[in-house]
This record gives sequence, C-alpha cells and structure tokens, in this order.
Amino acid sequence: MGKTYHSMNGDLTALQDINLSIREGEFVSLLGPSGCGKSTVLRCLAGLEDISTGDVQVKGKPLAGPAEGLGIVFQRDVLLDWRTVFDNIMLPSEFGDRSRVAGLRSKAMHLLQMVGLGGYQDRYPWELSGGMRQRAAICRALLDDPSLLLMDEPFGALDEFTRDQLNLDLQRIWGEIRNTVLFITHSIPEAILLSDRVVVMARNPGRIAEIIDIDLPRPRTMAVRETPKFAEYSAHIRSIFEHLGTGATA
Ligand code: ADP
Ligand code: MG
Repeated sequence: MGKTYHSMNGDLTALQDINLSIREGEFVSLLGPSGCGKSTVLRCLAGLEDISTGDVQVKGKPLAGPAEGLGIVFQRDVLLDWRTVFDNIMLPSEFGDRSRVAGLRSKAMHLLQMVGLGGYQDRYPWELSGGMRQRAAICRALLDDPSLLLMDEPFGALDEFTRDQLNLDLQRIWGEIRNTVLFITHSIPEAILLSDRVVVMARNPGRIAEIIDIDLPRPRTMAVRETPKFAEYSAHIRSIFEHLGTGATA
C-alpha cells in the first residue's frame, strides 16, 4: 500500500510499499520519528484517507470508505468540555441505533470502572487531569466493542509517571478485551512494553524498516524494562534508527 499527497508544491510520497498484515487480537505498534507517516497509515486503515497504490483489506475484504467496528484515540483527547464524562463516552451512541442506548449506558459505566474512573461519570472534562481525560477517551473508543482499536500517540502528551501507569492499564484492559490494536508511538520502551510486534518505520519516504516480534511473557510489569532481553530489543531498535540517520527517538 502506498500514499502520495498532491499539493501545489509538488507530490509527497508519504508512504511507500507498506506491506503489513495484522492478526486478529494482535497488539502492533508503529514506531518511528515524526513525519514518517504513522498517522497516515492509521488514517488509511480507518478508511479516512484514499490510498494511492495497492489496497487495504479488513477481514479479507477491500476497505471502501470509513471502516466499521473501529475505535480511535488521538494524542489530544477530543472530549467536549460542556458534557459530563458520561455524556462524552456516550457520544458515539447518539449516531447509531437508538434502541441500543440502554445497553450502552451500562457498558459505559462498566468501562469507567475498568479504566479506574469509577465515580467520575458526572464530572466535566476540565475537572480531570490529562491522564484521566485520556482514560475517558479510551472508554469512548471502546464503547461499541471495536474489533480494531487505533491509537495515535495517545500518551504522548502525558508526564512519564502517568504514561507508565496508563501503559500498564492499557495492557490490562487489552488483556480482558483482546481486540486488535494498532498503537502509534515514538517511544521505544513504550512500543516494546506493549506490543506483540513492533513495526519500525523510516521516513523520506515513509516506509517499514523492520518488523520485530517481541517475545516477552505477559502480563509485563515495569520491571521487564530492566531485563537483558528488553535491553536487547531496545538496543536493536536504536541501532536501526542510528543506521537510518534518525538517531534515537525516546
Ligand atoms: P507522523 O504521524 O509519523 O508524524 P504523518 O503521517 O503525519 O507522519 O505525515 C507523513 C508525511 O506526510 C509528512 O511529511 C507530512 O508532512 C505529510 N502529510 C501528512 N498529511 C498531509 C496532508 N493532508 N497533505 C499533505 N501532506 C501531508
Ligand atoms: Mg502523527
């Protein structure tokens, strides 16, 4: 699959020969420097962007238009400040089949408990910390049981402590839901900690440099980062970026 943006200043090959197949229930990270096309991959997968060459298939069928069964979390949570946390999470239900609203209301309460926001349903987004807002955004993305969860640098704006905690929580939640996740990050340790496979990307043009299987037992704790195997993965990925002239990104 490839993607070229056409503009008045000429053409820009954002993605070249992206050949990636994600298994159902797999946790895959896209790791790479800014501008290597990570968000473009996500938008192509979501059916939000026309691709230029090749195709995108979901469950064996070519994707045409916005994909169904999808949840998306962005770096900046897109919570509406005038709605309570609960009403923000319920937002997707307002566009679908109204008869399902009752079921989704209890689902929303369950998700709030699961992400550690039990009791916060009537608060407003501006009353929450950055980490709590991202937790709420995750709830909203999970409301309709997406078979594919796309996360574009969801924890990139958070401090390290909050990020670590959200990494552990995300791992736990994914362990319960076991849907397919495509997670975008420019942090090497975050990618290794969370993923079954890390797709290392290079830029100019955006492409896959290497795909690495992360063979570490789950559930993974923060202590796994101190193990020799983790350090090996980390050093290997760092060397790929050095080789590409990108330098370390984390
Ligand atoms: P990343 O998410 O890895 O930082 P992006 O996918 O956002 O990278 O961007 C990849 C490349 O495509 C960049 O060079 C960027 O400037 C370019 N690009 C992204 N979106 C557009 C667009 N809508 N029009 C033109 N160029 C774009
Ligand atoms: Mg991006």
